[in-house]
Amino acid sequence: MTAFTLAFDEADPADVDRLGGKGSGLARMTRQGLRVPAGYVIGTDACRAYLGTRTLPDGLADEVLARLAALEARTGKTFGGGPVPLLLSVRSGAPVSMPGMMDTILNLGLDRTAAVALAEATGDSRFVADVVARFHAMYAETVLGALDPGAGIGDLVADVGPRDDAGAVYDRVWAACEAALADDTGDSVPADPRAQLVGAVEAVFRSWNTRRARTYRDFHKIPHDLGTAVVVQAMVFGNLSDDSGSGVVFTRNPVTGEPGLFGEYLAHSQGEDVVAGTRTPDPVTEALAPDLLAELRATCSELERAQGDVLDIEFTVERSTLYLLQVRSAKRTPEAAVRIAADIVAEGLTTPATALRGVSVEQVRQVQRPGFADTDVERARSAGRLLTTGIGACPGQVSGVLVLDPDRAGERAAGGEDVVLARTVTSPADLHGMIAAQGIVTATGGSTSHAAVVARALGTACVVGAGALRVDEAARTLEVDGRRLHEGDDVSLDGSTGELFAGRFAVSTPAAATGALGDLLGIAAAAGAGEVLARVTLPADVDAAREAGAAGLVTAIDDVLVATGHLDGLVAHLLADGGVEALDGVADLVAQEFAPVLAAAGDVEVGVRAIDLVADEARELLQQTAVTTRHPELTVPLGRPALVEAQLRGLERAVEKAGGAPRVHLAVRHVSDAAEATALRELGRGAAVGVGAYVTGPRAAFAAEAIAAAADVLWVEVRTLQAAVFGIPARHLLTAEPLDGYVRRGLLSCDPRTTLDPAVADLLVRVAAAQEAGCRVGMRLSGQVSEEMVAQLHGLGFRRFAVDAAEVRPLLLALGKAALQ
Ligand code: ADP
Ligand code: MG
Repeated sequence: MTAFTLAFDEADPADVDRLGGKGSGLARMTRQGLRVPAGYVIGTDACRAYLGTRTLPDGLADEVLARLAALEARTGKTFGGGPVPLLLSVRSGAPVSMPGMMDTILNLGLDRTAAVALAEATGDSRFVADVVARFHAMYAETVLGALDPGAGIGDLVADVGPRDDAGAVYDRVWAACEAALADDTGDSVPADPRAQLVGAVEAVFRSWNTRRARTYRDFHKIPHDLGTAVVVQAMVFGNLSDDSGSGVVFTRNPVTGEPGLFGEYLAHSQGEDVVAGTRTPDPVTEALAPDLLAELRATCSELERAQGDVLDIEFTVERSTLYLLQVRSAKRTPEAAVRIAADIVAEGLTTPATALRGVSVEQVRQVQRPGFADTDVERARSAGRLLTTGIGACPGQVSGVLVLDPDRAGERAAGGEDVVLARTVTSPADLHGMIAAQGIVTATGGSTSHAAVVARALGTACVVGAGALRVDEAARTLEVDGRRLHEGDDVSLDGSTGELFAGRFAVSTPAAATGALGDLLGIAAAAGAGEVLARVTLPADVDAAREAGAAGLVTAIDDVLVATGHLDGLVAHLLADGGVEALDGVADLVAQEFAPVLAAAGDVEVGVRAIDLVADEARELLQQTAVTTRHPELTVPLGRPALVEAQLRGLERAVEKAGGAPRVHLAVRHVSDAAEATALRELGRGAAVGVGAYVTGPRAAFAAEAIAAAADVLWVEVRTLQAAVFGIPARHLLTAEPLDGYVRRGLLSCDPRTTLDPAVADLLVRVAAAQEAGCRVGMRLSGQVSEEMVAQLHGLGFRRFAVDAAEVRPLLLALGKAALQ
């Protein structure tokens, strides 16, 4: 008799695949000795068999009915009869949480005899009328597909007196329900409780393949062949009396993560009433009698302790006795996820590995980044406040006053206002305004335009290419599709989605979560996962990067010159140079602009990337100039040794000026040959600054050991290397399109933005060998880090990473997870 079914106390809670989430939770609570109404689970294998043949598998109906005898014996109640009738709930429960499946059928098992017995046992005919009507409506809706069953039956039930003749009441209510259903669908609900049970089980199986269920699975990439389990359980009645009721409780606040019960209770109600919203439930901590509340508290902490997680629990109280009906891991906000993970490790509820697994890098991003509430943004969109959508060039959500001129942007910012600078296009002359602004938006330009490059160097939220914008500088107005905004109007922008809104949003950093985030990352760091360097450009960036947990810094000379407005100076020096001078002007520029950054850095390691005149990102800025046409030798790493020398000298002087003893190295991009590395070593001989190479291509990775032998440090630009191996532009790895669409069409089996390609992994094995030989090897990650890729790199033995400053915390989490895997 156990081919398809398992009683709660026989089932192994770990077998979620067979029991489904709900069945597994009930089995676990039963095993813990908590008060769970008795019941059994029909496994997902029965559902799969049903879906194959569209008939109940042989023997299932017999087994389901045979289980009833055991339930009767256990509860002392009788299915379909007296003295105390056994009523059942029949619920669907898939192995993965899946809304859109069949709703629950409650109160199953009523025929006339059982109804009369129930009235006698409870002394309440009105209660029986309520239960009969509820059952009929649920069965009609979920099994027979009626649209609005039970409409108009409420009055009939309300008119029943507690002492009315139960048989007559049953006849009246049942007949009325049947008549309404016949009008609607022409169907009829079986009066025989055993037929009801078999019908309900089959309906649960069928609901696996409803359109909404399939759509949900498609969207969430859940396989279609898992099938659902069915939970059959004895009913308890929250609608029996005033000291009965039903509720839902979270073991901690799922919005903030604060400890303490958080939930709702509705006296004199059955479970679905709480969610139906027809009556307003009360806070659980106020509505429950003190002894019940104490019991619920104790139960919740026992469950938390057993499952090592924050839980969402459904319960019912029948005549002052607490019954547990469901337990599952609680859905939570990012803030709550971070706080909970830190707290439950501190409380010893779970291991660091498990706690870290409960938080994603995206949640860390959301917690650390001041931003808009999703609900506010949604509301603004539907209220027509979205002005236009451009290209998101640098993430960040900001609100501020619209300003169309860099001078006025500077003035208003100095006056304490948050400014959003809108320009048709930006140029180096706008730099002071861009630095002053909280957000930047341009009408033209792509993701490598001046505005985008500068914004990324500054870390300022930025949208470019918002083609619908018409900036009228003279009139100080901004027109978008016929709408006119004036300078000083409030606007908001989202540098990820590229959206520009009229009006302001509240911007918040969930303060409570920041402390918890520190704790959580402390746990990750304690796992010994590795060392993280942060990319900075301005001295003001340094503190934030160190606070986020960066052990060192990386920066790039061209980025610093862009952000300080001296790229023109560099170009001028290079153009003026006849090829013989020592490029002293470049050394002066570097010395002058790096001293403040190095002073802010103190004695931490600073990796400096040398000027790269062929970088993808630099092209748009430099292509307007004739530098590389006049001096083609500048497009190979050591084509002009004097340029490298000038940068080394400049950095040495900057170190001196900064007064401290920063550990600085200069690393040159695109080195691919041991001979280049040796030449670089020669240039750096005797310098107070180390030298290194940036691996950007397969050849360099292949030759990593030989290159490393001549270098102090080796950086691998993972994105550039992947792009080179794929043969696509590296900038495609920073944007949603074109690769999103391409991956969706199944034309790329590995998404190089999130996953290390096997061909690249093979090359990195050679780089790892260079590391073993004693060279300091680091992985330079760009854009948002991917947990999967970090785990892969960690698995290959890499422990040193550099990322954008905003990604330091997400990376620390990802590394902690990888180390504890
Ligand atoms: P969902 O998957 O939508 O949470 P459930 O199967 O948990 O649906 O059922 C919905 C509600 O039905 C529960 O909140 C609970 O209050 C009620 N319910 C389920 N089983 C029983 C039972 N054995 N006794 C009383 N109420 C029940
Ligand atoms: Mg539920």
